Amino acid sequence: MPLLVMKFGGTSVADLGRIANAAAKVRREVARGYDVIVIVSAMSGKTNELVGWVEATSPLFDAREYDAVVSSGENVTAGLMALTLQEMDVPARSWQGWQVPILTTSAHSAARFIDIPRASIDAKFAEGFKVAVVAGFQGVSPEGRITTLGRGGSDTTAVAFAAAFGAERCDIYTDVDGVYTTDPRITDRARKLDRIAFEEMLELASLGAKVLQTRSVELAMRYKVRLRVLSSFEDNDESSGTLVCDEEDIMESKVVSGVAYSRDEAKMTLVKVQDRPGIAAAIFGPLSDAGVNVDMIVQNISEQENGGAFTDMTFSCPTNQVIRARKAMDDARAAGLISYADLVQDTDVAKVSVVGIGMRSHAGVAATMFKALAAENINIKVIATSEIKISVLIDRKYMELAVQALHDAFELQKA
Ligand code: ASP
Ligand code: MG
Repeated sequence: MPLLVMKFGGTSVADLGRIANAAAKVRREVARGYDVIVIVSAMSGKTNELVGWVEATSPLFDAREYDAVVSSGENVTAGLMALTLQEMDVPARSWQGWQVPILTTSAHSAARFIDIPRASIDAKFAEGFKVAVVAGFQGVSPEGRITTLGRGGSDTTAVAFAAAFGAERCDIYTDVDGVYTTDPRITDRARKLDRIAFEEMLELASLGAKVLQTRSVELAMRYKVRLRVLSSFEDNDESSGTLVCDEEDIMESKVVSGVAYSRDEAKMTLVKVQDRPGIAAAIFGPLSDAGVNVDMIVQNISEQENGGAFTDMTFSCPTNQVIRARKAMDDARAAGLISYADLVQDTDVAKVSVVGIGMRSHAGVAATMFKALAAENINIKVIATSEIKISVLIDRKYMELAVQALHDAFELQKA
């Protein structure tokens, strides 16, 4: 039997009516001849509520018990989805993570897959069941404790099942009808993409396009899972939504595919650090050990003073990691590993990025980007580039303007 994985996010299973709507989509695929593995999220808002309860009970909570509590939202929707399908005469059975069992590492609240044995689900398909409903976001550790995969983890569950079961496709049903050139709330010229390459989606997802968990795109890229993002509130056909696929499967790609942004970015500058071999390691080692996700880095030109060489080192990190970053630097200074005159933070910044695989073979993208920002009088504070991405840090109040200007400059409204 050909097999599909269909994943329904929180808004797609927000209440019993929406679960019935999702189940009808599953029934349609079964009628087309597919066996289906359905991955469900918790009802929208549920996981936040559960996290809130944990934090209110125990601010420095035991992560094992956090997982025990927050994984429960998906258990409810999995059972309800199976019941709804049964009411529609579709033979369905539900699985919680430990029942499959979905084996993960014991990194509670951020677990990674180890293995997804097929036997228990294959056996049910062999008995004549048409749908296996699996609770997303969760698994079981080698110690036998329930684990979760990090927020948004049901996407990753879906892709992992598609890979493990050799699914024809992994359909991610959500509340938008696909992946857009940029956030349609920022410009009405944003356009839905029919296809996007894994690598581009990876950049967009990690830059804050919230439609897919970054990890799920990594897995899909590694196992060549055809991943589709589509709306659960529309009637869909084979060409609906956005297909995330191999670069080779994209006929004509533009140089730039999308503009992404992130509001919660902070810029931190270590003023007057010693300019000597090993200084970068002495700064970024402790930051990494403290779990700070440093993105952009700029080292200024060296200045001579009193016989020594000094420089300023600037880096960006998520706003909610500023306190951790500061502590890591203070501790490194106290331990005599580094010295600096000041640590200046700027939390009123935003990161805006253009992404596209076409950049590999086209020059001039950076020039176009900087000209477009200059024309709007937007000052660039930090620049970082990769093979398929250019990011700039700017004052947050200009973020929307920058996104609009770049979307226009690269003519992303045109197919
Ligand atoms: N319910 C979990 C969350 O909100 C997992 C998911 O929906 O993907 O993060
Ligand atoms: Mg999600």
